[in-house]
Amino acid sequence: MLPFATPAGFPDFPAVTPAAMRETLPRLLGEAEARVAALEAAPAPTWDGRVRALTEATRPLTFAWHLVEHLLGVCNDDAWRALEEEFQPAVVRFSLRVAQSRPLHAALRALRDAPGFDALPEGRRRVVEAALRDARDAGVALEGEARERFVAAATRLSELSTKFANNVLDATKAFSLVLRTEDEAAGLPPSVRELLAASAREAGEAGATAERGPWRVTLERAISGPFLQYAERRDLREAVYRASIARASAAPLDNGPVLGEILALRRGQAALLGFPTYARLALDSRMAKEPGAVYAMIDRIGGPALAKGRAELASLRAFAAENGFAEALAPWDLAFWSRRQLEALYGYSPETLRPYFPFPRVLEGLFGLARELFGVAVEPADGEAPVWHPDVRFFRVRGEDGAVLAHFYLDPYSRPATKRGGAWMDELRSRERRPDGSLELPLALLCCNQAPPAGGRPSLMTLYDVETVFHEFGHALQGMLTRVDDPECAGINNVEWDAVELASQFMENWCREPGPLRALSRHVDTGEPLPDDLISRIRGAATFGTGRATMRQLSFALMDMDLHEKVPCAEMPDADAAQRAAFDRFADLPPLPENRFLRSFTHIFSGGYAAGYYSYMWADILAHDAFGAFEDAGLDDPAARAATGRRYAATVLALGGSRPPADVFRAFRGRDPSPDALLRHTGLA
Ligand SMILES: [Zn+2]
Repeated sequence: MLPFATPAGFPDFPAVTPAAMRETLPRLLGEAEARVAALEAAPAPTWDGRVRALTEATRPLTFAWHLVEHLLGVCNDDAWRALEEEFQPAVVRFSLRVAQSRPLHAALRALRDAPGFDALPEGRRRVVEAALRDARDAGVALEGEARERFVAAATRLSELSTKFANNVLDATKAFSLVLRTEDEAAGLPPSVRELLAASAREAGEAGATAERGPWRVTLERAISGPFLQYAERRDLREAVYRASIARASAAPLDNGPVLGEILALRRGQAALLGFPTYARLALDSRMAKEPGAVYAMIDRIGGPALAKGRAELASLRAFAAENGFAEALAPWDLAFWSRRQLEALYGYSPETLRPYFPFPRVLEGLFGLARELFGVAVEPADGEAPVWHPDVRFFRVRGEDGAVLAHFYLDPYSRPATKRGGAWMDELRSRERRPDGSLELPLALLCCNQAPPAGGRPSLMTLYDVETVFHEFGHALQGMLTRVDDPECAGINNVEWDAVELASQFMENWCREPGPLRALSRHVDTGEPLPDDLISRIRGAATFGTGRATMRQLSFALMDMDLHEKVPCAEMPDADAAQRAAFDRFADLPPLPENRFLRSFTHIFSGGYAAGYYSYMWADILAHDAFGAFEDAGLDDPAARAATGRRYAATVLALGGSRPPADVFRAFRGRDPSPDALLRHTGLA
């Protein structure tokens, strides 16, 4: 029996309080420690004796701590933060101690080397091999001085990554531009003015309003992005742009030395583990396998992206000239003029779509699609399990034979004071065949941040909100429709890091198709679906600017890969040279000499994307190609769509991390992934 669970096995959220955790966690930590110690004393080199036994030994603690982390994300307050601060060190210490355990590592190696290993199911073999790789990458196999150097580098890296992020944060905070006159705010629509007035209020201008200002511009993307798109004062756009490319590049917040040391330490760690570069170490556990595959992808997409991007820039110049702009376009003009061109060409703004997407209708459309494609029924089960907030919905998922497959929570609305931003999917439990033969079902949760219901109307969503729900539901489907009984590789578990976004991004494709768009939309007042004219404009806008956007993504992916594969070498002696090379190849306008983009590239220096930025496009290629199978079969043919959907469910969704992602993809598509569908869908080819 898990702690904090109802008799039916769901988390008993009302009982999960900081006080109850404070009472329970020390016991769970002690028990986990004792069980792991017993396992270390007599480890058996078998699946049950080593892998399962460790999962079991740590299960109650893992479950309870997972609840803490979840509640920190959705019910954040001082009491939960104090609880986290109090117990996190002990929990981290315990998990490091397990990861570094020599006896457990020896038992895992003995299991892999035992004669029976090859007879294990493929999923279990993959779990063992991935665990051995993780242990190797954590330096478990190193001895003596090498081990000390490795551990010292790891400690220093974690300090530097925090320092890098803090420098970016402080440098971002250090800049602000307060607009006080109507002339300075010219061009800003009411929604942006409200954003900027809120930012001014946060900075102490208590009386700031959207109508009268003052309006405060900062370098946070959510603010600087819309400002650069709308502000008519070119000199102010220039000031914001210049500040943003110079972030964290001057003392005392200069990230130049920090990132140099990070790269050197990563190279050193890779060398200690026997890899010629950090990129090769990182990719050893990914679907791409080696940097050559990433470079090949960049070359393949790069050609068409450059061709379309250059044409877009030429057309943007012409549009600006036609509209009275006589000078050469500078970097701070691009967002402004392309927003105006987009409006001129397609004539709608994302906000105007909201009335067409009331939340209940979108859910109906999404669940209808899941039934049609995968044969699953999603039914409301509100009240059957406790929830953490009254707005949270609870659902049950049944398979084609009516058997219950999974449950999930959906927490749709934003609660800025207590819930973190963005959207995410998480699994509180994975599918698992218990030692007594019973089957535990997946329990997923989806969190979004759309506008709550207001004025007697349901939550009205933008198309972006709709895509977000589809995206997270795609992740959840992989967890809920898995057919694997070992939680270590069921659903999204043990899926290679660069392939995880296949199942989620695949679902987003449906939000761009006329049929689903019609099914998802019902105007909140008239009950009408999206008119055909609007649908065709939405589809046109979807390929607007994709050339330049893809060039930008490719420049980041290339820079990241070069930094971790090539620097330092004769042609790229340092990080700045790698940045120059990537921008020379893919920037739409020549970058300013003082561009210091790398100094605020938190993804790769403090965000876990080192030698991994390419994954966005890698997974997108898989997702578009998977959707291409439905196009090949005939999107307007219900029988073909259903048959393809069942095949997708039986492969991508069912097999999860139990087989290599390349094999799973081949099982679905009948061939290796191809970038053609992505190029077609984004209008690049
Ligand atoms: Zn995702």
